[in-house]
Amino acid sequence: MNSKISKKLETLLLKNIRDVYDFPKKGIIFKDITTLLSNPEAFSTLLDHLENRYNTFDLDYIVGIDARGFIFGAILADRLKVGFVPIRKKGKLPSETFGQKYSLEYGYDELEIHKDAFNKKNARVLLIDDLIATGGSAKAAESLIKKACGFCVESCFIVELEDLKGSDNLDGRVYSVLKI
Ligand code: AMP
Repeated sequence: MNSKISKKLETLLLKNIRDVYDFPKKGIIFKDITTLLSNPEAFSTLLDHLENRYNTFDLDYIVGIDARGFIFGAILADRLKVGFVPIRKKGKLPSETFGQKYSLEYGYDELEIHKDAFNKKNARVLLIDDLIATGGSAKAAESLIKKACGFCVESCFIVELEDLKGSDNLDGRVYSVLKI
């Protein structure tokens, strides 16, 4: 397992994640990862790093949080040849769901997972999202994985806003590629 990021990756992330001020409301500095996604070198170097870290974790599934967690999660799942499971905002999943309310840095919402998301008890799951702020959504996602009888091996974020101490709110292990 290699968790230390290279200078190259660190530079690419810092250069390609854009700060958008006062979005979605005044006072929030939004870390925009669309500029990272559109840079093939940055995106691919990041995915290489994640693949290298997680290929020894013996994962069964990667669970991505709606919506930016889907982008990283689905590609990583394909690279690791494991299943991908979406955790979605309330009302979006078509079959029977478990639900969990959560709070954002800028509001409240509810997340859901399909009740039959995993094909076995204690499936080994990696949770992934683009960013952890307060940790509210990731904590809700952790409980949903538990409700669906999965085991969350680790939660992974591309960016962690360290001052908000969101990772302290999670029950399980946390890995953040870049702490800001
Ligand atoms: P939280 O539940 O407070 O940890 O918020 C994390 C979720 O909200 C993630 O899905 C992020 O994509 C989004 N989010 C919260 N704050 C920001 C921010 N400053 N920049 C970008 N995304 C954010």
